[in-house]
Amino acid sequence: IPELLQLTSLLPKSLHHIKIAVPGPFQEPLIYQHDQALAAGIRCKVPLGRRQVIGITVDENTPTGDIDPSKLKAIIEVLDQQPVLPNSILTLADWMSRYYQHEFSSSYFLALPALLRKGEAATLKAETWLTLTPAGEAIDIEQLKRSAKQQALMAFLQPQQRCSMPHARDHGFDLTLAKTLEKKGLLSIDNLAHHDAIKISAELSETPLTLNNEQQQALTQLTGEGFTPSLLEGVTGSGKTEVYLQAIADCLKNNKRALVLVPEIGLTPQTVRRFRQRFVDDIVVLHSGLSDLQRQQNWLRAAFGQAAIVIGTRSAVLTPIPDLGLIIIDEEHDQSYKQQDSLRYHARDIAILRAKNEAVPIVLGSATPSLESLHHAINGRYRYLQLNQRATGQALPYVETVDMRQQQQQHGLSEKLLIRIKEHLNDGNQVLLFLNRRGYAPSWFCEDCGWIADCVYCDAHLTHHRHNNLNICHHCGFQQPPIKQCPNCHSHSLTAMGTGTERAEEFLSQCLPDVPMIRFDSNIASTRKQFEEQLAKTEAEGPAIIIGTQMLAKGHHFERVTLVGIWDIDSGLFSADLRAKERMGQLLTQVAGRSGRGKRRGEVLIQTYYPDNPIYTPLLQHDYRSFAHELLQERKRTRLPPFGYLAVIRADSAHAERAESQLKEMATYLLQLGSVRVLGPLPALLSRRAGKFRYLLIVQSDKRSQLHEALNPLHKHYPREAKQVSWHIDIDPAEL
Ligand code: ADP
Ligand code: ZN
Ligand code: ZN
Repeated sequence: IPELLQLTSLLPKSLHHIKIAVPGPFQEPLIYQHDQALAAGIRCKVPLGRRQVIGITVDENTPTGDIDPSKLKAIIEVLDQQPVLPNSILTLADWMSRYYQHEFSSSYFLALPALLRKGEAATLKAETWLTLTPAGEAIDIEQLKRSAKQQALMAFLQPQQRCSMPHARDHGFDLTLAKTLEKKGLLSIDNLAHHDAIKISAELSETPLTLNNEQQQALTQLTGEGFTPSLLEGVTGSGKTEVYLQAIADCLKNNKRALVLVPEIGLTPQTVRRFRQRFVDDIVVLHSGLSDLQRQQNWLRAAFGQAAIVIGTRSAVLTPIPDLGLIIIDEEHDQSYKQQDSLRYHARDIAILRAKNEAVPIVLGSATPSLESLHHAINGRYRYLQLNQRATGQALPYVETVDMRQQQQQHGLSEKLLIRIKEHLNDGNQVLLFLNRRGYAPSWFCEDCGWIADCVYCDAHLTHHRHNNLNICHHCGFQQPPIKQCPNCHSHSLTAMGTGTERAEEFLSQCLPDVPMIRFDSNIASTRKQFEEQLAKTEAEGPAIIIGTQMLAKGHHFERVTLVGIWDIDSGLFSADLRAKERMGQLLTQVAGRSGRGKRRGEVLIQTYYPDNPIYTPLLQHDYRSFAHELLQERKRTRLPPFGYLAVIRADSAHAERAESQLKEMATYLLQLGSVRVLGPLPALLSRRAGKFRYLLIVQSDKRSQLHEALNPLHKHYPREAKQVSWHIDIDPAEL
């Protein structure tokens, strides 16, 4: 035995194989060696080629390939004592990497704020904190009744025991007041970095509204033990937010924290104010408008349990939150939940998975639920909760169509809409004009009779591509130059649908030079700050025209708007995009819901060339539900989501034929598997961008697993960037 001991002491210290998610085009974690075991979720500096990069240790369960120990490189530096990502988040990240088939590490890095990705310490900055002294904990605040302010601050602090100065300030308390109480020995003030969790007080700072019956029923049903998914379908203004607030209050009472996801542009100061007004406990906010430092600090505070509520946009779904008790997704149908580049994940789907893993209730709320969520609610996978009345008892707006074939029009603005705009402005009200511009494929159509150019071979409309002046069928690839004369009425007024809105806007400002125009589009309100500035302008007195695109439809409350005009809804009818009709119905309903939220009943005018199209009928009667059921039937017939599974492979190249031929090869490979259906290659709806030609391949299957198995090997056969073609897979695409 002594000999044996001698022998082992000669061996190198035992080395551990550590799996690390490393940035780069890898489908798996890489393996490094280290002289100690490391938990998952720890950042390490490691060599990669000639560089040093930061990676994250991943779970033991992730498979590794064959290892040749002599080739393993050593970890250079371990950056964290404690994991920065808890198991709950690591599990999600691992799943996302496999499901979305993007670079393995991307989901792990997505979960971290930028500064932590770069290797900064996972620590909070020093902050002014107010902490109760034992005397402060013990005091009966009745004794302070001579100073209402002091009493209020103590009432605020006692249930939490400690709070940061910014949080106290949000609730109207200042440092001078705190210092007075410090002199009385009731609290202490320090300027330190505290990293411990804060007690959840579950106190409210305003009285909640009394719920109506529908709201009360929804509230009772959506809270439950364990994983309880619900769809809260409530018409615009039905008081969904009030239901969320009360559900959160219940969650806090159980000593648990809540996560609220909102659409990208929906997270405005107004939204946050509404939450802060209600709760004593601290709330952190995570969105793209924060500086890297703010984001890192807010993220850490959430992770350390210093906020009872986390409100954030898409990527906040991956925020570590100890004792999570509830997840809410507001406007769950919103497209901004789906990331459209690099890791193309859907935050709603990740949130569902998270709720399931952490065994907590999750509420998906919307006036216009996505077909996916609706499908689950109808077949009982989600509880289906409905709010059918506006909470204030206010009537929904009158909705009316304007038949454009029979209207005098200038630049696409009908006489009728113009007259109505003037009336509402004269009454001192605001008018909201909605332009349906982005993301829709224009059809080639006749302005006089509504005729549309169809494919010769398919039951489909052609899509107009401006850059090469061709009308192309997105089902079979047939193409032809746009015809000049209408075969139906012989008019020469043929054009691509949806053009001309810019001119119309100019025209409108010429007609009404004295009326302020508040514009929301990607040029004017591209940053969060600009968007909020525009939003603030709408709060001013007096007539105004609010004009803009999709971003206006996101749950904002325009108190003074009495007329909503929808300029060009039709493009959604004919687009080749899978979700165009669904989105059209959602937009129409949401935009109409912006009207008449104040005292006066609203009006909605929709300009259309197809007033008799049955798809509009339910929408005109505020019946999104029937509209959606109709679309679900259509999806069922065509085996599209949620009845089948879909992925898109997109390729782009400066040489059109390269992108196309690579997709052809892939199509051939996929087709011989026999387990998936393949459509394409087709030119993308936006077929040329930044000098690159874009093609796509649509892959469909009735089984999710078959789709994944078919796509999985593609990365091995085709490098992502090669032969001047770059390509990616989009699983569950939001658009084609
Ligand atoms: P949603 O989120 O469904 O659009 P909100 O929660 O914003 O609706 O509510 C719309 C309006 O109705 C708000 O002004 C809100 O204060 C009011 N409201 C909500 N619930 C009630 C209620 N139970 N009683 C009275 N007013 C309510
Ligand atoms: Zn015609
Ligand atoms: Zn065709």
